[in-house]
Amino acid sequence: MKKFSLLILLCAFFIISCPSKGEAAAVQSKIILDSKEISMPANVQVHVVNENVMIPIRIVVENLKFKVDWDQKSQGVKIQQDAKIISLTVNQQEATVDGKQVVLTAAPQVKNETVLVPIRFVSEQMGISVSWDNLDKTVYLTSSNKESIKDGQAGTVETVLPTTDAPEVTEVDTDPIASNGSGQTTNLLNHVNRLNFVNNQLIISSDGAVTPNISRLTNPDRIVVDLPNTTFADSFGSVQPLDAGLKGILDVSGYPNISEVRYSLFTRDPYQVRVVIALKQANAYQLIPGLDSNMLIIDLNVTEDSTTYVPPVVGSGRKIVVIDPGHGGSDPGTTSITNKHEKDFTLPLSLKVQALLLKEPNIAVVMTRDSDVYPTRPKRVQLANQLKADVFVSIHGNSLLNSPQANGTETYYYQRSSSKDLANVIHKYLVKAIGLRDRGVKNESFQVIRETTMPAVLLEIGFLSNSAEEMILQSDDMQNKAAQAIVDGIKEYVGVK
Ligand SMILES: [Zn+2]
Repeated sequence: MKKFSLLILLCAFFIISCPSKGEAAAVQSKIILDSKEISMPANVQVHVVNENVMIPIRIVVENLKFKVDWDQKSQGVKIQQDAKIISLTVNQQEATVDGKQVVLTAAPQVKNETVLVPIRFVSEQMGISVSWDNLDKTVYLTSSNKESIKDGQAGTVETVLPTTDAPEVTEVDTDPIASNGSGQTTNLLNHVNRLNFVNNQLIISSDGAVTPNISRLTNPDRIVVDLPNTTFADSFGSVQPLDAGLKGILDVSGYPNISEVRYSLFTRDPYQVRVVIALKQANAYQLIPGLDSNMLIIDLNVTEDSTTYVPPVVGSGRKIVVIDPGHGGSDPGTTSITNKHEKDFTLPLSLKVQALLLKEPNIAVVMTRDSDVYPTRPKRVQLANQLKADVFVSIHGNSLLNSPQANGTETYYYQRSSSKDLANVIHKYLVKAIGLRDRGVKNESFQVIRETTMPAVLLEIGFLSNSAEEMILQSDDMQNKAAQAIVDGIKEYVGVK
């Protein structure tokens, strides 16, 4: 099957604002071929004609090292790509490919002595994956995936419009190991759970190991992060903006060199999420390891030699809160009286805390995990320290196996008076909100609160080994109250109203 690359942004753009029929709208534009910008003469531009993005064909195919001939008399363009010959005629929607007739979505046109051809045609006939970023006014062409064109398929590809229900997203979301036992994992689609921009770092959390393609582009300066074989998790839109066209923008106010961070499901065939960090001036970056293979951090706090750490000139003004759901993945934590894992208590509660913090405009929340994975404790510490977080809160459920009566809430800090202050404030709210026995605030040398460098606490919300208490702790209602109390405590401590 012929691969066809679709453009969500393009379609979304056309639905919102299409130029009136027949009019060609020139746009100040760029063409990027295999990550390199093609230089275009000043008078040559991408045009939008009848809902088609039209590109200057000669410049493109010459950069692809194809042979192009122009016959002034017949107004014909002949493109030779290996053994394939494509013939186009200006103002005619019919073209021929190896002698067979195909129909273009729009007839080639001449503007400023340049022949313009719909990008769809380039994609279909030349095996190039094509996309159009309407925000950047940039055409992206990728020639790497050349596939032979099967007869009779040209011009029959349906227009794919952005949909909000996107059934194919869930369709692909099956585990090939589970479904066929063959152990093939190559087609497993990754999902972005969350994007954060904190401390001048873009943090991408996903449910799989994603290898990003990162390019630095100029004019305007930006860093483009492409995530192959990746789409947005179903829950993504519930924690941050994602419009019907599967696009959104992160809040980056306060970062002096960042004009915008935008993201989109850039293509669906294959799936690819794109994040663009739009810069006010050129900025180096380094890709640093996140907590685990499911986290990518693109750090902009570096100079051009990419080695020196440069603290951000001005903070975002937002307080950075790291929430650490205890255990996870291979580490189940303790086992409750009803044989439930602690990790399955800490995660939903922590996600409730996250949801509440996301509503706080003056707080940026980063999770050490947002799914059933196990980042090691040193990694959790490293993340919080690297982000220069203002507050670190680790959430746990308690257990005392030989004392089924043991009950109550306790909060731990380690030595630092700032941590003790934070512990006192959160503990006060927690005990009041959930009404379990007050076991007090205690000093203890737990790694995640010892080795973090900011005010850090570890909460033991209650005893999962106590049957009455477990029932309370597992209830949605109680978890909502606990989450609100934790958030109230954090807000009071960092001084956010
Ligand atoms: Zn624990």
